[in-house]
Amino acid sequence: MQKEISGIIIECVKGNIVDQPDMTAIVNAANAQLRPGGGVAGAIHRAAGPGLEEECRPLAPIEPGQAVITGGHNLPNKYVIHCLGPVYGVDKPEAELLASCYRQALMLAEKHGIDSIAFPSISTGFFRYPVQEAAEIAIKTVLSVIPELKQVKKIRFVLFSDSDLMIYETALSHLAGSAGPG
Ligand code: ADP
Repeated sequence: MQKEISGIIIECVKGNIVDQPDMTAIVNAANAQLRPGGGVAGAIHRAAGPGLEEECRPLAPIEPGQAVITGGHNLPNKYVIHCLGPVYGVDKPEAELLASCYRQALMLAEKHGIDSIAFPSISTGFFRYPVQEAAEIAIKTVLSVIPELKQVKKIRFVLFSDSDLMIYETALSHLAGSAGPG
């Protein structure tokens, strides 16, 4: 599913975050230490190679809601933007911290002249954020940042399962209303 809002395309696809070769940047659902770990972070570090962990080391630790940027190393993407989502029920206020991840990632993308960025579903894996709530926050935040974007032209949500894809698509069509085709 795809929507175009003020000239910016927002889309939801099912897939793997490390298999988005047409995107300039991908976002990592990172841990505070910016180490490989499991889930999205494990997949990204495996695909990027050890150079990514090396570049990350002096940038860690990061705080919930914070985003930092590195190169993509062996990934097909020029950049990785690492976001630390809130652990649900632990890091508070969790909705604000999750929104901050998406906002800070998009602001970093702007600063680096990035035209396309792919997000995973931050915090909804090991960090246990309910997907429905997280999807609404993710889409709402992206929509709210759109007026500030000059460089970013395409924002993609990459979901790992059919059910997550459906939840993000529903949130996008409700929150973006009749703003565009798709
Ligand atoms: P967090 O620690 O922020 O919760 P996770 O990496 O545990 O992050 O998971 C976030 C979401 O990304 C979960 O829905 C998980 O199923 C999904 N996911 C895991 N691996 C990948 C991948 N390679 N590509 C896209 N999504 C993934």
